[in-house]
Amino acid sequence: MKPFAYFRAESAEEAVGAFAGHPGAQYLGGGTNLVDLMKLGVTAPDLLIDVSRLPLNGIDEMPDGGLHIGATVRNSDLAAHPAVRTRYAALSQALLSGASGQLRNTATTGGNLLQRTRCTYFQDISKPCNKRAPGTGCPAREGVHRDLAVLGHSADCVATHPSDMAVALAALDAAVHLHGPQGARTVAVTDFHRLPGDRPDQDTVIRSGELITGVSLPPVLPGTHCGYRKARDRASYAFALASVAAVVRVEGGVVRDAALSFGGLAHRPWRARAAEQVLRGAPATEETYARAADAELAAAEPLRDNAFKVPLARNLAVSVLADLASRT
Ligand SMILES: Cc1cc2nc3c(=O)[nH]c(=O)nc-3n(C[C@H](O)[C@H](O)[C@H](O)COP(=O)(O)OP(=O)(O)OC[C@H]3O[C@@H](n4cnc5c(N)ncnc54)[C@H](O)[C@@H]3O)c2cc1C
Ligand code: SF4
Repeated sequence: MKPFAYFRAESAEEAVGAFAGHPGAQYLGGGTNLVDLMKLGVTAPDLLIDVSRLPLNGIDEMPDGGLHIGATVRNSDLAAHPAVRTRYAALSQALLSGASGQLRNTATTGGNLLQRTRCTYFQDISKPCNKRAPGTGCPAREGVHRDLAVLGHSADCVATHPSDMAVALAALDAAVHLHGPQGARTVAVTDFHRLPGDRPDQDTVIRSGELITGVSLPPVLPGTHCGYRKARDRASYAFALASVAAVVRVEGGVVRDAALSFGGLAHRPWRARAAEQVLRGAPATEETYARAADAELAAAEPLRDNAFKVPLARNLAVSVLADLASRT
């Protein structure tokens, strides 16, 4: 392993200041992804700025009825928080469907959003990979790609985004709060992760030296229900083949409002705007849910070995929507 310096920051300002002048620096959250990638030689920071103990570990009620989640809140604490379990159940369910108890005790909200793809070529430095080494090619397109993207991929990269949490945050219309050398800014979660295009090395819109300080959730309207469902190769410790987060409000047998996002299908959590258009104002029936899922998945371009993801995602969407609607 390449030698690196270590610095534990006490405040967000100190962390951002420590980054200045160190293009090879990286922030360290729980380290559950970053340290693995360092051991594999995928990344080699010369300075690790430990932000895991910053005073950003609160989960706070906002005056508008929303919730603010600090960047260093551990995944298990977030999943167990009463407000998250009751009002934002999709988020709690998504977190609990990811990794293992030990990992969730360590992983942070900020680090979870920025975890890297599990494409096997990306993690194997003996192989070419446009994401890890731009311009070297994408062997996954013709090689092993069963777990990879069916929506929004490019000639340069067919990787999927791995986070379950981010899929729930996308359906819940969360916002990411950033603090960097140019000051603070807020980005909608749906705009935070990128499609690969010809720059698959850039997973998100985060700028060099920017620190995630927190995530906020808008208030939930009365009568709204939300949930998360994930299909994977085994019951735990596995990333999503496909997943769905849904937020719905049904009144009088009609879908009044709906937000839907897919995981495991694309380079970013896939907010299903076409499906939502079909859902709003339509009868709350399985026929509507299937039509909505089909409207979204019509854009899918499966690779040789992953066409199974399209009906899998469709069925997940129908079952989650039917389940949530039956609660009203
Ligand atoms: C065996 C295994 C199984 C897993 N299964 C799943 C799964 O099923 N679903 C799932 O969603 N996840 C899964 N994970 C991934 C796990 O959720 C992530 O590793 C974890 O959430 C990352 O959080 P962290 O705090 O440890 O991040 P770190 O590893 O510390 O950092 C990850 C990235 O975020 C950056 N970073 C960290 N904090 C900040 C910040 N505040 N501001 C800016 N940048 C920051 C780091 O520089 C790094 O680039 C699995 C992991 C393992 C090892
Ligand atoms: S899919 Fe993306 S991450 Fe995987 S080999 Fe291709 S470029 Fe690399």
